[in-house]
Order: sequence, then structure tokens, then C-alpha cells
Amino acid sequence: MDKQPAIGRFAPSPTGPLHLGSLYTALAGFLQARSQQGLWLLRIDDLDTPRNVKGSADTILKTLETFGLHWDGEVYYQSRHIDVYNAVIDDLRKNKLVYPCTCSRKTLAVFDSGPSQADIYPGICRDRQVPLDTPHALRVKTDSRVVAFQDELQGLISHNIAEQDGDFIVKRKDGIIAYQFAVVIDDDLQHVNRIVRGFDLLDATPKQIYLQQLLGLSTPHYMHVPVIVDEQGYKLSKQTQAMAVDLSSPDRVIFQLLILLKQNPPVELQEASLTELLGWAIQHWNPVLLKNTHAVGCDY
Ligand code: GLU
Ligand code: ZN
Repeated sequence: MDKQPAIGRFAPSPTGPLHLGSLYTALAGFLQARSQQGLWLLRIDDLDTPRNVKGSADTILKTLETFGLHWDGEVYYQSRHIDVYNAVIDDLRKNKLVYPCTCSRKTLAVFDSGPSQADIYPGICRDRQVPLDTPHALRVKTDSRVVAFQDELQGLISHNIAEQDGDFIVKRKDGIIAYQFAVVIDDDLQHVNRIVRGFDLLDATPKQIYLQQLLGLSTPHYMHVPVIVDEQGYKLSKQTQAMAVDLSSPDRVIFQLLILLKQNPPVELQEASLTELLGWAIQHWNPVLLKNTHAVGCDY
């Protein structure tokens, strides 16, 4: 293990108030960082402006505070770092590591050969000269290297990047920096070395590691925790109309979340204060109990 302090982060997108699923991930990351005497940073992933909901970043901050999940340092807003992302992309472009792509969804749909292939770009624009005034996305050139990492809960994950991910987008046609790209720069700028996030992002990780390798950045440790699913088995999200968390009794919600994190909180703790509860959880945090779990069900 590294000598540097553990630095983790929570990176919500300000697309609405926090629901139980996001709070679950936040709590896992908080406990992981605090149990290692590490830092826990907060980043607001606000680049995807069409999806941002006004005021929700502030609501998220207030919610985290209500639940006693205090972060370290200043909040990092992605939208304040757009120049950095663009400068790095320009360099990659000069080095011909990214290229413009004018393909429309319609063009790409023709190449879809089943759900597993749906996102893999067939390389149409790789060697084309695209006039610069044509609206275009930027894609990174991939090669068929195998990116492998040991996830702390999900075991060994490996991808052949060219075959399983293909040349993926780093800057969208609408000029917005792609999540995959921004996150790699942010984690580096914030010196993040322990990433705790939902299982739904496991598949994004090889792409991010590929970018880290391309840019000569170090790769953090990853822990992908289960996602909370509803009775139908769907991940709680805004799309599934997940409700905002109930702020009226944060201790009760945290107790429920500790059960969903399989931490087996003793019943006596049901009467404990929020501070006591979190103190117990930090001291007893045992993520191994979540090993190989992809989803946990909850009935509200
Ligand atoms: N902003 C992303 C989300 O809310 C999380 C990014 C990450 O943890 O890497 O899904
Ligand atoms: Zn193209």
C-alpha cells in the first residue's frame, strides 16, 4: 500500500436532490476514507449542463451535511476547470491521439450488431480528413492493450480496450467534455488515490485507466460498491423516480443504509445519535462483507 494518505471523493452530478442510492455510495466512500484516516473530497460533476438542475448542487451539499457526511477542503466544481480539460485535449490532438468524428447516431446505428456492440465505434473517421468547420466530436484512438485492475470488491476486471470499448468520445459534438475524460483529469488534480463508487460505473473504469496510461497519470485503487435497486430490480435513479432522501430523521436513514451496506449494526444503535452511529460505523467498517455484490434491494 502507498505511503500517501488515502484520498477518496464523492462526485455527484447535480441533476436533482440526493436519493437513497447516491447517499449509499456517499456513505460507503466516507466510511472507507475515514476508517483509513484519509481525506474525503467532494466534487460536483456539473459539466453536462443540459442535465444540470438549478439549485441541486447546493441541495446536495446541505443533504450531506444533514447526514453528518462532512467533506474535506473546498468543493471542486468541474465547470471551473474546463480550460484544463481543453488544454490536455488540444495536446492529445496535436499528437494525433484523438481525432474528430462527424458520425451521427443514425450512421452509427447501422453498425450496431447487438447490445454488446452498441457502443463500440467502428473507426469510420479515424483516417478521414474532417473539415474543421463541421461539427464534430473528438474520439481517442484505442489500441488492443488489455487493461486490468483488481477491484477491492469485484475482483480482477480486464478489458481489451479496442475490442470492448473502441475509440471512445472525450469531447462531445456539443462541445461538452465527456465524463470519462474529465474524471481522469479531476482525480489526478485532486490527488485521489481511492475511488469508491457504484457498480454501475465498473465498465467505465478500464476506459479511465486507459486514459491515465495515455496521459502518464497514476491509477487509483477502485472499489465498486453495489447499487440499490427497487422491487423491479432497477437501480434507484432519477429515471426510476427515486425519491429524495428524507431529511427529517437522518439517524434512521443512516441506520438503514448500514444494513444495506451489510455492516450489521447492533439494534441498540437504533437509539443512538447520528454522531455515535457514524462513529460506530467508521470503527467497524468492513467492506469485505460486500464482496461480489452488485446490487442490494430496498423496498422504499
Ligand atoms: N458523477 C458520476 C455519477 O453521479 C460519478 C462519477 C464517479 O464517481 O466517477 O454517476
Ligand atoms: Zn465518425
